[in-house]
Amino acid sequence: MGLIVQKFGGTSVANAEKIHLAARRAAAAKAAGNQVCVVVSAMGATTDNLIDLAGKICSFNGKEIAPPKREMDQLLATGEQVTIALMAMALHAQGHDAISFTGGQIGLVTDDAFTKARIQSINKQRIQDQLKSGTIVIVAGFQGVTPDGHYTTLGRGGSNATLVALGAVLKADVCENYTDVDGIYTADPRIVPSARKIDRISYDEMLELSGLGASVLQTRAVEFAKKYDVPIHVRNSGNDHEGTWIVAETPNMEHIVVSGAALKKDLVRVALKAVPDKPGVAARIFSDIAQANIVVDDIIQNVMDDKTASVTFTVEHGDLHDIKPVVDRVVRELGGTVSPTYQSDLAKVSVVGVGMRSHTGVAQRMFKALAEAKINIQNITTSEIKISCIIAKEDGNRALQIVHDAFDLAHAK
Ligand code: ADP
Ligand code: ASP
Ligand code: MG
Repeated sequence: MGLIVQKFGGTSVANAEKIHLAARRAAAAKAAGNQVCVVVSAMGATTDNLIDLAGKICSFNGKEIAPPKREMDQLLATGEQVTIALMAMALHAQGHDAISFTGGQIGLVTDDAFTKARIQSINKQRIQDQLKSGTIVIVAGFQGVTPDGHYTTLGRGGSNATLVALGAVLKADVCENYTDVDGIYTADPRIVPSARKIDRISYDEMLELSGLGASVLQTRAVEFAKKYDVPIHVRNSGNDHEGTWIVAETPNMEHIVVSGAALKKDLVRVALKAVPDKPGVAARIFSDIAQANIVVDDIIQNVMDDKTASVTFTVEHGDLHDIKPVVDRVVRELGGTVSPTYQSDLAKVSVVGVGMRSHTGVAQRMFKALAEAKINIQNITTSEIKISCIIAKEDGNRALQIVHDAFDLAHAK
């Protein structure tokens, strides 16, 4: 007898019929002799709609405020709470025992970084007691509570994190991530129609792809899966095809030089000009930004003749509201003389593969393909297993298709 944790994303529980189909899948796993725990997302576009609504409410009398983060989480946590109850009802209607729990009800405790909280602990006893008695347990994804009982959410796509965290604490045999595509593809199939489904991919490659824009899995969830060695099987909730397994790297994975390509849209370049050029400045800038829970990338520092430096970096557009006050304060305190600037029309196209460690010529091939398509590369960053180019946002989709073709990713090697 095994233990399976399944997660159904928003599109897989978008209406009553789909909730029944998901319930049927959970029941089938139970009938096959497993203990089954199910994580669900909010129905369809619920989370997006709630975010829009908060934006409308916070625009008042000609003024606009950023929605207070604690209240945002209070609001967003409602989405998943609807789905857990409906999913448990669907299972009852199909003749099975099921019980739903919110994050708080299973003691899923997080820090207090509202809207991007990190999981600290889960009290698995309550779930295990139910599983042992043969009940299917339904858990609200994406949400937790602080030690003082405030609702928190785990960042967009955070139900993935709930899935993997439960998989880790319950020592699940597998985490099944049910979504609206057949698995992980060589690129987003919505943008690159010729993208090919990958059978197996390493945690490290998936970590890079997620961080570089493959939103099918949240980066933090993959980090967690790697740390606790939890295998994830990404599958389509609409069919029974074998999906993609995300697993520890095996020696034969190195033969594939490039496994996939990804695109991140909506990046903003922040430029701090004329900050003093002395030790500790970069540390100061980036520690303040990190404290605000904002991830930065593509950092470039140039030293000028007049003993000042310019520091530029990119952030996601969604972080713009939060980063402006932090950057303004740092520049003021460092005695900078020029106001920071924000350039909003950027994207990043990347290729990822563990085989890059032992193969040369990847960067050159990528740059040549982009050059032939007259796409200007504004900045380049690399790691052992990825190459990224910052480009104009308007070139994004085309660039993804071009690098996908340049490495012939549509055809299995
Ligand atoms: P869910 O609601 O099930 O969590 P998401 O919309 O968050 O689903 O993620 C699934 C989507 O991720 C797919 O529809 C696809 O467009 C997108 N995606 C981006 N990159 C990839 C990739 N490399 N492989 C598969 N899907 C991808
Ligand atoms: N409902 C949340 C979101 O849309 C969490 C998730 O679906 O994973 O981001
Ligand atoms: Mg998702």
